[in-house]
Amino acid sequence: MNKPRRSLPKNSESKPRVFVAVKVAIDPGHGMSNATKGKYDPGASGGGLSEADIVLQWALTGKWVAQQMGIDVFLTRDDDSDVTPVSTRDNKAELAGCNYFISLHCDAASTTSARGLTVFIDKTQEDRDRKFALTVQNALISAASNKATSRGIKLETETRVKNLAVLDFKKGPAVLLELGFITNAQDRIYMTDRNVRVRFWQNFFAAVDGVKK
Ligand SMILES: [Zn+2]
Repeated sequence: MNKPRRSLPKNSESKPRVFVAVKVAIDPGHGMSNATKGKYDPGASGGGLSEADIVLQWALTGKWVAQQMGIDVFLTRDDDSDVTPVSTRDNKAELAGCNYFISLHCDAASTTSARGLTVFIDKTQEDRDRKFALTVQNALISAASNKATSRGIKLETETRVKNLAVLDFKKGPAVLLELGFITNAQDRIYMTDRNVRVRFWQNFFAAVDGVKK
């Protein structure tokens, strides 16, 4: 018996496809005037390192990898003197035409054994952001060859401050990634490893852009 050939619905080829180019905002936390005007905010510290320095390195590596892969990025700051109050960062990224937002931080604890990455998402945007958060988490675990452990994907309400201003970004998925604990020696190893940074961004941009590796 001949099966009738299924034909494609009419116009399936001619429907206009809306192409939206990916533009990723990379937000290295802390820095100049982050919390107080005119004051440099180094963030947490551990092992002789500052959080602001570590996350800036991650952002700069991200910019370099993006250039290699032909991905458009915007950095909310790219040095120690850029004035970046925390309340303005999401708006700056929106104005720059970004449709993804990733904020980079390091965790800290009084007990040096505490470790692991955490991905935070906005409490009102869980549906929009959870898949993106998983992508970010998996990109880092894979990049660190499983030396990074995950504390999971959490809502901003689980932070001490209950609300993360940068997650008010409105133009697309947004996460705040705590890369690991600056107070933990094992986490500091992968957080300061350039190869891990490069692999993370390669994984991240490939996933965001839907490019097959
Ligand atoms: Zn921080």
